[in-house]
Amino acid sequence: MTTKKEQPASPAEDLNPFHIAQQQFEGAARYMPDLKAGLVEFLKRPNRMITVEFPIETADGEVKNFVGYRCVHNLVRGPGKGGIRYHPDVTADEVRALASWMTWKCSVLDVPFGGAKGGIICNPKKRTKDDLRKITRRFIAELGDAIGPYTDIPAPDVNTNAETMAWIYDTYDMMHKGRNNLGVVTGKPVDIGGSLGRREATSRGCLFCTQEALRRGVLPGLSSVKGATVVVQGYGNAGAIAAELYAAEGAKIIAVSDSRGGIYNPDGIDPLAALEHKKKTRSVVGLPGTKKVSNEELLALKCDILIPAALENQIRGDNAAEIRARLIAEAANGPTTPAADRILFERGIVVLPDILANAGGVTVSYFEWVQNNEYEQWDEDHVNLRLHVKMERATDAVLAKQKEINGSLDQLQAERKKRGLQGAPLQPVDLRMTAYVLAIERVARVTLERGIWP
Ligand code: NAD
Repeated sequence: MTTKKEQPASPAEDLNPFHIAQQQFEGAARYMPDLKAGLVEFLKRPNRMITVEFPIETADGEVKNFVGYRCVHNLVRGPGKGGIRYHPDVTADEVRALASWMTWKCSVLDVPFGGAKGGIICNPKKRTKDDLRKITRRFIAELGDAIGPYTDIPAPDVNTNAETMAWIYDTYDMMHKGRNNLGVVTGKPVDIGGSLGRREATSRGCLFCTQEALRRGVLPGLSSVKGATVVVQGYGNAGAIAAELYAAEGAKIIAVSDSRGGIYNPDGIDPLAALEHKKKTRSVVGLPGTKKVSNEELLALKCDILIPAALENQIRGDNAAEIRARLIAEAANGPTTPAADRILFERGIVVLPDILANAGGVTVSYFEWVQNNEYEQWDEDHVNLRLHVKMERATDAVLAKQKEINGSLDQLQAERKKRGLQGAPLQPVDLRMTAYVLAIERVARVTLERGIWP
C-alpha cells in the first residue's frame, strides 16, 4: 500500500524516505572510489527490521490492533540508537530511512552509537493517555531483548516525549529486575535518570551548528543569528524550543507553524506567547497580532534562516524554487528531497543537513547514557558546554571536508576512471553530501578495522 507520504509530488520525484536515503548514500559513495562494492551494499541497507503486531484494550472497551517497527541500520560503531515515532503515516520504509540517518548522524558527531529507529502506526491525537501507555508497554514487551542498554537504545521522536520514555524504561525494568537498566532509553524525565539539557538539546545543537557555520562565513554578511530573520516550520519539541533559543540569541522569529497552519508577523513573534497559545488552543494559529499563512506560504517567506522542524519531504523539487531563505537549518529529519537539494545548491542556498544540524538530540542522549552508566548527574552547564564542543567540532569537520572534496574533484574523477567506475562527472558537493562522505568513511573504516566477522 502506498501512503500519502510516498506519493510522488511530480512523476519525476520519488518521495519514499528510504529510497531518498539510499539515493543520498549512493550519491556520496561516488566520491569514495575506493569503497569496496560489498561494503556499499552492507552500509546501504539495514541490518535488521522487526515488525510486531499487538492488540490493546482501549479506554472505550474496544480491542484495537497496532503495528510497530524497530529497525537497526548499523551497529559497527556501537549500540543502535534512535527515537520512536507515533504517527498514522509511519511506514516500514520511513523507519528504515530514519534508522540509516541515525547511523550517519552518530558518525558525523563521533558519538559511539550505531543507527536505529522505531515507529508505531497510530494517531496519538485520537488516543487517551491510558491507551498510549498500554501501546508503549505492549510494544516494548513485544520487542523483548531486541532493545537493551548495550544493544539498541530508543529515545523520543515525533509524538513521543519524556513521559513515553519513562513508560519504556519502566516496562523494560520490570522485565529485567535487579540491575541498572537506566541506559535502555534516553530522553527520560530528569528524576528518572534523564539528562539536564536533553529536552532542549536538538534545538540547542541546531543553534550551535548554525552559529558556527555563520561564524565560518557560509553566508556573506551574516556572521551570527543576531538580527537574523527566522521562520520555523513545526512547533513541537524541536521547533518551539528552536524558536525560543534563536530568539534568545537576538534572532527575530517572523513565522511559525504546526500541523494546523502557520502565523506570520514581519515585526516578530514572541515564541513563548506562541507556545502558550498552542497549549491553550492546540495550535499556534490565531495568536493575536499575527496573520494566518498556510504551510506552503510559510516555507516561501523571505527570511535569513528557515528551520524545518516537522516531518519529511517538506522542501521538494516542486517548491524548492520558491524558497527565499538564505540558509536552511534542518531540525527535522529528511525535510529536503534530493531534487530540492540540487535546486537549492544551484541557487546558493546553504543547507545545514539533518545528520549534522539536528544531532544535538542524540549527542545529549549519549551524555544521558554515560551518566546512567556512571550513576551520575551532570550540571546543565556542563552538558551544554560539551554539546557545544561536539556540535562545533562536527560543523567544522563538515565545512573542512567540503573544501577538501571540492578541491580534489579532478583526482577523484581520475581515480574513478582508473577503477572503471561509470557515471556522470563528479560535481561540487553540498554540505549534505559532504556530511555523508565523512560519516560513511568513518563507519567503513571501523568496519574494516574491526575485521569482518568471522
Ligand atoms: P513533535 O511531535 O514534538 O513536533 C512535531 C511538530 O510538527 C508539531 O508541532 C506538529 O503539529 C508539527 N507538524 C506536523 N506536520 C506538520 C506540517 N505538515 N506542517 C507544519 N507542522 C507540522 O516532534 P519533534 O520531536 O519536535 O520532531 C520534529 C522533527 O524533528 C522530526 O523530523 C524528528 O525526527 C526531528 N528530530 C527530533 C528530535 C528530538 O529530540 N525530539 C531529535 C532529532 C530530530
